[in-house]
Amino acid sequence: MALPRLLRLWARAPGLGRALHRAGSAPVAPDFNSFVTRTNTCGELRSAHVGQEVTLYGWIQYQRQGLFLVLRDFQGLTQVIIPQDEAHSHVKQLLSNAPVESVVRVTGIVSPRPPGQENLKMPTGDIEVKAETAEILNSCKKLPFEIKDFIKKSEALRMQYRYLDLRSFQLQYNLRLRSRIVMRMREYLCNLHGFVDVETPTLFKRTPGGAKEFLVPSREAGKFYSLPQSPQQFKQLLMVGGLDRYFQVARCYRDEGSRPDRQPEFTQIDIEMSFVDQTGIQRLIEGLLQYSWPEERGCMTTPFPSMTYEEALADYGTDKPDTRFGMKIMDISDFLRRLDIQFVQNALSYPRGTVKAICIPQGARYLKNKDLESLKASAKSQFNQEIMEIICKPDGSLKSLLTKFLGEKQQLELIQVLNMQVDDVVLLAAGEHKQVCSALGSLRLESADILEAAGLVLRDPATFHFLWVVDFPLFLPKEENPTELESAHHPFTAPHPSDTNLLYSDPTKVRSQHYDLVLNGSEVGGGSIRIHSAEQQRFVLEKVLKEDSEVLSHLLEALEFGAPPHGGIALGLDRLISLIVDAPSIRDVIAFPKSFRGRDLMGNAPDYVTPEELEPYHIHVSWPLAEKEAKQS
Ligand code: ASP
Repeated sequence: MALPRLLRLWARAPGLGRALHRAGSAPVAPDFNSFVTRTNTCGELRSAHVGQEVTLYGWIQYQRQGLFLVLRDFQGLTQVIIPQDEAHSHVKQLLSNAPVESVVRVTGIVSPRPPGQENLKMPTGDIEVKAETAEILNSCKKLPFEIKDFIKKSEALRMQYRYLDLRSFQLQYNLRLRSRIVMRMREYLCNLHGFVDVETPTLFKRTPGGAKEFLVPSREAGKFYSLPQSPQQFKQLLMVGGLDRYFQVARCYRDEGSRPDRQPEFTQIDIEMSFVDQTGIQRLIEGLLQYSWPEERGCMTTPFPSMTYEEALADYGTDKPDTRFGMKIMDISDFLRRLDIQFVQNALSYPRGTVKAICIPQGARYLKNKDLESLKASAKSQFNQEIMEIICKPDGSLKSLLTKFLGEKQQLELIQVLNMQVDDVVLLAAGEHKQVCSALGSLRLESADILEAAGLVLRDPATFHFLWVVDFPLFLPKEENPTELESAHHPFTAPHPSDTNLLYSDPTKVRSQHYDLVLNGSEVGGGSIRIHSAEQQRFVLEKVLKEDSEVLSHLLEALEFGAPPHGGIALGLDRLISLIVDAPSIRDVIAFPKSFRGRDLMGNAPDYVTPEELEPYHIHVSWPLAEKEAKQS
């Protein structure tokens, strides 16, 4: 985001510089100057302050020829005039020689800028402060990179010096907005709807299924804690304990190795309620988001649209559709079924065999040959799916390998079925339903990237499309062994009321009471109505998932003591905020994120510990030679 725009957002953002509106009470403006010796922040001074003596604290953003400098703090920038007269030579000496990013105090008089020198792009651009006294509180040594949003720096360097990166307007804006949104969420949940904020343990034990957990050694030989992947079990146990409206800003841990936009530790807004159904949870989340939504991101309409998992897969090839643009998947099986084309007939003869296509509007103008080739190669490598293209030429005829099987009339019919215009490109796939949909869904997004790189705007980052995806299957075949089943959400999810009997006869056909919240093609939340019968929970664990239910004996037992029906959801706070601020990565909304490989590049964690430190944990590390040498060097 360009700096001036950020500065404007900065100045407008309620709770940053302006009044906060509290339900039912007069607006209250936060006092940024309480308890400290500054009189004003660097973003605060306007013409109305002219003539006042002020004391500002901040970092030197830049300094020009000993004449003036720009002072920066979290709220903005103020121009400071360095005095040139003999009586102030000490101040001149200090301010002209201080390196940029030194932290200083300046006391001076607010003055109007000389006519014609006002800076309309700066909220404080009408004034400047004529320094009377100054103090260098701490000087800054040579910087590893310039603290300016427009200066490109490698992410590794930014993470190594995260405390410097945090000084940037963008990160300041992101973290302050995040804090403001969480505050509003707390208000909504606790003050307006009677939720209770409960902290749950981070040292616990392994949960079956789901993500891989981090282990923490204990002093009991061979015994380990696990860091919970979410407070799932605890929040259900709180329901058994009668805390019937729970929430927590919860830290979660998943040891999933290096994944581009995941973090090994992340934050969820975790919620659970008793005596609720799916609609109740959905309305709660819509209200919560509407209440906490930042004013500067426009208004939001509720209820959010809803789509079944089957529809999402058929139309968008994914369970998290980006509905900001069209290019939906079209089923052309019925049209092609009547034609004698070998590969089509082969595909249609499989169980759930299908022929589907997406139409890329104006694709022939924006996609180069190499783009088409790379789209086809990507479908092949990721989904083992062959793709055939059809191009609508300027004379309205079709160019494709398919045309040799079609007469003129059939070509016209195909153009109609696919709703093609001149220069459109269609990508066609034949095969098994899920594979075809997934491949086309992925090509839909890849082609959108290509079109946008060529200058078209398909997915406006300033629009927010929320969507509920519902009616997921309760179980999915395991990727590594499709004859075994795993939970689509987690093992505590209840079956759809109309499918309960199928649980015992054909679990693969059971739909669940699981719902996901999708925003602009990213999953930002997920939850479910839970199983509250111990018997049903035991059946799912032992008979369907073939898990050792002993690990969950505490939960199974708790369900036998009058556990209320309950359900909940968790919102992925990092992802949600990153979409709201249009950040390229979730790392940009986390104060101290881990690298792509899960490392803290600033403090260098994880780190080695000595054999002596490991002894109480009964752990002995047998070092591979190369690592031992690296450690010693
Ligand atoms: N614990 C679940 C998760 O982390 C969310 C939920 O079911 O409430 O995905």
